[in-house]
Amino acid sequence: MKAVLFEKFQEAPKLVTVEDPSPEAHGVVLRVRATGVCRSDWHGWMGHDSDIELPHVPGHELAGVVEAVGKDVVNWKVGDKVTVPFICGCGSCSECHAGQQQVCLHQEQPGFTHWGSFAEYVGIHQADLNLVALPESMDFATAASLGCRFATSFRAVIDQGKVSAGQWVAVHGCGGVGLSAVMIAAAAGANVIGVDLDPAKLALARELGAVAVINGGEADVPEAIREITRGGAHVSLDALGHPVTMTNSILCLRPRGKHIQVGLMLGEHAAPAVPMPKIVGQEIELLGSHGMQAHRYGAMLDMVASGKLDPARLVGDRISLADAPEALMNMDKFRSVGATVITRF
Ligand SMILES: [Zn+2]
Ligand SMILES: [Zn+2]
Repeated sequence: MKAVLFEKFQEAPKLVTVEDPSPEAHGVVLRVRATGVCRSDWHGWMGHDSDIELPHVPGHELAGVVEAVGKDVVNWKVGDKVTVPFICGCGSCSECHAGQQQVCLHQEQPGFTHWGSFAEYVGIHQADLNLVALPESMDFATAASLGCRFATSFRAVIDQGKVSAGQWVAVHGCGGVGLSAVMIAAAAGANVIGVDLDPAKLALARELGAVAVINGGEADVPEAIREITRGGAHVSLDALGHPVTMTNSILCLRPRGKHIQVGLMLGEHAAPAVPMPKIVGQEIELLGSHGMQAHRYGAMLDMVASGKLDPARLVGDRISLADAPEALMNMDKFRSVGATVITRF
């Protein structure tokens, strides 16, 4: 199969031909029909993820069709149209038994713990637990964007944030995760404030339901949010993963508000200074959010089917596998509005 592979961290990945994967007994092999290019892939390529063994094929935001099925798999057959959470549960640890596969103790992540979907085929572990059936009507590029950014935002806003109608929700960073969060929080009935440095992203945040936007380059962000909300947001998300957005997110909350850290903080940002006096004095909750387990996809897909959520609006450029190395290496430059998706292999 064709695959995009890198042999050293921070060295340009190459389009190469490698052996086709075969399914494990409990797994499947998917023919990849679309796969998103994500900042997490860039972190992996930079060498920020200790799970990655070289040489490596990145890619974790995928949708495709079942091509081959392991002998122990009972729920899936060749030809099924599916996606998969970027965190795949093992099926046998205490977290998986509790239904919390997104924090599985022995998790597999395509594109991190094993070769991912910047390729014609990808192997997926524990298929009965981890695959999610896709509606026939959903196109592959949209489905690929669900697996990481959109599902991650759904869990952050709905399951971790427990956002409800009438609350003020601030979203710091309006890239793929942030714009998804804006749309989802607005659909849940919240008043959403989008924050970014890029006017184009702020305009899109407004189109997707933000009632106010703030350019972080021009304003004191926490103060502006406290003013708009008359006291602070109920729930605030750092959708980027940077010390500045994290700090602004905590400082813009009202007493007993919730900060949700969605953006990864790795490398030089792995141990940021946290404004602890406010957290203690105002009983602020700090929550992480990490992907979403397969069994919660149904709720999200039903909101897509009913038209309340429209993830297709977040798909940006569609590129070919040959374009993937360039797109991957430039992921930290935040050029695109919307998700870049590989759709030609
Ligand atoms: Zn991702
Ligand atoms: Zn597990």
